[in-house]
This record gives sequence, C-alpha cells and structure tokens, in this order.
Amino acid sequence: MEGFKADLHTHTTCSDGSMTPRELLLAAKAKGLQGLSITDHDTIDAYCDLFPFAEEVGVQLLPGVELSTMHKGVPVHILGYAFSPSNQLLSEFCQQHKERRKERNQLILDKLKAHHNLEISEEELLWEGKSGGTIGRPHIAKAMLAQGFISSFPEAFNRYIGEGKCCYDPGHPITIEETIACIHDAGGIAVIAHPHLIQPSAIIHELLEMPFDGIEVYYARFTEVQVKRWAKMAERKGLLMTGGSDYHGTIKENPLGCSFAPVATFSYLYERFTKNQAATTR
Ligand code: AMP
Ligand code: ZN
Ligand code: FE
Ligand code: FE
Repeated sequence: MEGFKADLHTHTTCSDGSMTPRELLLAAKAKGLQGLSITDHDTIDAYCDLFPFAEEVGVQLLPGVELSTMHKGVPVHILGYAFSPSNQLLSEFCQQHKERRKERNQLILDKLKAHHNLEISEEELLWEGKSGGTIGRPHIAKAMLAQGFISSFPEAFNRYIGEGKCCYDPGHPITIEETIACIHDAGGIAVIAHPHLIQPSAIIHELLEMPFDGIEVYYARFTEVQVKRWAKMAERKGLLMTGGSDYHGTIKENPLGCSFAPVATFSYLYERFTKNQAATTR
C-alpha cells in the first residue's frame, strides 16, 4: 500500500464539476491516484453504471456525496461515504434536494430579475449542455457570465449571489440532524467537510457535539498548521480523518489529488462499502 493515494472529495458534471465521472476516473488514473470518491453536491447520479468502468481503469471507487445543510443560518457541507449507491432512502433524500434546489434557484432568479432586470432561462442553467444533475449557484453564475452581465465567475458570488449579497437566498434548507440520520440509515459515515470554511468557529464546537463520524483534516492546499489543528480535534473527539482536493475542474483552482486521505481511512471506508453493498444485493 506504499504510495497509495485516494482523493475523497471531487465533483463532476453531475453537479458543478467540469469533467464527466468517466473523464474524472481517467484523470485520477493519469494523476497516479489509486482511490477516488466522487462527492457531487446533493446527488449520487455519478455512480450509475460507473463501477465496471472504474475496475477497467484500475481505480478503486468509493461511493461519496456532499450534502448541503444549514445550522443557525450557517451553510455546512457534510460528506457521506461508504453507503451502498443503490440505497433507496439516500436516493429519495437526493430527490428531496433536487426539489429544494429548484425552488431556491427560482427565488434567486426572481431576485436577479427584480433588482437587476436580469432574465435567465432554464436552458441557460444547464451545465456543459447537460441536463439531469444538481443545479445551484455555480450554474447561475455561469449563465450570468455567458450573458456578459459579469466579467468573471467569482464576481457573481462577490456582488450578487454570495451569502449576504442582494440576490442571495438560502431557500428551505435541510438540517444537519436529518442529513446525518440519512447517511447512517444508508450504512454510511458522516464527515464535516472543509471545517475551516465554517464561520463563526463557535459553530464547529456545536458540530463536534453531533453524531458525526469524521472530519476532513486534509483539504486542498491546507498548510501543515491547519492540518495539525484539525487532526488534533479529530483525535480528541475520536473522529475519522478524511481528505481530498475538492476538485471541480475549471471553476476552482484546486488540482485533482492535491490532497488525499490516509491509507487506513480509505481501507476502513472501502471495506465498509463492500459490506454495505453485499447486504443490499443479498
Ligand atoms: P450552492 O450549493 O448552490 O449554494 O452553491 C455552492 C457552490 O458554489 C460551492 O460548492 C462552490 O462550488 C461554489 N461557490 C461558492 N462560493 C463561491 C465563490 N465565492 N466563488 C466561486 N464559487 C463559489
Ligand atoms: Zn461545488
Ligand atoms: Fe463544499
Ligand atoms: Fe466540494
């Protein structure tokens, strides 16, 4: 297992990444990764028919998802791992997110129309011309850019649709409690994603009292000091330490594989997935 690298935080065209799941697997192989988890926002669509291809490519594929929640008005992303992708409850949960997002996107679009007379159609929200995946603020930002309303992707967030900006709307969020319960029901483990982004930090202490199983200790280009801080917290609370790049392709700078999980974490998760899979197909 020496040199074994598994990136456990990546996005595809099923949410707001720029590579298809198959392209991402090939890119992972080319980068020298032996393990990969695709953690699209609020969807597990990437896993449909993907396992035979992963085997062909020679990359161990671990089921994952990044679920959006809110705690006291603060957005909290939760990574779920090792569930069986054919779990009915989780599929229904993702469907619930799809409907939640549809309503929320409309609220944001209504504000853009009301405040800035900007009209964006449903077709303009398609990602890479593809329908069916999770649609969110990055899709709205891309449409704004395509219309020439803004001159860069970050400008959409910094001026219009970022938290607290004039056209932001949180929609009707799903709670942390019900999200962790769903992941657990599906046999998976629930991990606090990119903890440094959770502000104010008092919220982190409240999260640590909830039934999470892990924390993302290794993230994108964390410094040694940052890794130490989160590793210490994980140790104190007996949490699993996960890691990944949060690779999105063109919308974020994080390179694929720039961060990865410890080998022991990957082995534990993969074994858990295999057991869940066997139990579902029995
Ligand atoms: P949503 O899930 O619809 O609320 O959109 C959140 C996603 O938008 C995040 O996961 C990021 O990929 C992206 N995002 C959030 N803030 C920014 C930003 N300031 N610049 C670029 N992308 C961002
Ligand atoms: Zn994203
Ligand atoms: Fe996230
Ligand atoms: Fe992410």
